[in-house]
Amino acid sequence: MSWSIVTDTNEDLVNQLQDCHAVENEIVAKAMKETDRKFYCKLKNPYVDQPDSIGEDAIISAPHMHAYALENLVEVIKPFSKILDVGCGSGYLTSCFARIIETKAQEKNVPPSGRVYGIDNSAELVKLSIENIKKDEPHFFTEGRIKIVQGDGRKGLMECAPFDVIYCGAASKEIPTELIRQLNIGGRLLCPVGEKGNVQKMEQYDRLNYKDVARKVLTNVMFVSLTD
Ligand code: SAH
Repeated sequence: MSWSIVTDTNEDLVNQLQDCHAVENEIVAKAMKETDRKFYCKLKNPYVDQPDSIGEDAIISAPHMHAYALENLVEVIKPFSKILDVGCGSGYLTSCFARIIETKAQEKNVPPSGRVYGIDNSAELVKLSIENIKKDEPHFFTEGRIKIVQGDGRKGLMECAPFDVIYCGAASKEIPTELIRQLNIGGRLLCPVGEKGNVQKMEQYDRLNYKDVARKVLTNVMFVSLTD
């Protein structure tokens, strides 16, 4: 049997992801409800659980995949977290991360002092993610809560490291050693690993201390590859 969610509002899309347990965490649900997919996706109906082309061989992941990433990262995000979104593409997850920081700050009654850095190697997609996020929530830029840069995300973003969370939205052919190196103690990296066309694995790396990192293979996935 095969099925997919098709609906006509962003709120209902997330409700349905909750009904089928793709979204379980309330903070993730809130962030996804506040981040309307219509700002990030060119589909006539953006409220379908499908990936879509955003140009330049890039793809906005399907909502259940965004949910999967956020569900696995939400517990390590703090009001003061520094987050790196590698291959930020549409900018959708970058905004969700900023919103999770906001909610975590509200819960603790502290200012949302964290910052989300989006990095993409495509100038076109850097422009697109900035435009999309501005349409959704311009204060993310005016308040300095999101910064988008152009560069090779395989090298991380050394000048802003270490990061408490790193998410990689494209697959790495080998173990992403430079990203692991830029993880803060207590920080988590989620990265698809494997060749294009082969089964890739979503891998999770948790930095335990200065020298030890715990690796966990989460699930099989299919992502575009990190490119030169
Ligand atoms: N998380 C994004 C995924 C976009 S697709 C979303 O859901 O919208 C993958 C992205 O990785 C593309 O935007 C592509 O330009 C980018 N990318 C590929 N190789 C890269 C590299 N070496 N450094 C940074 N970004 C890269």
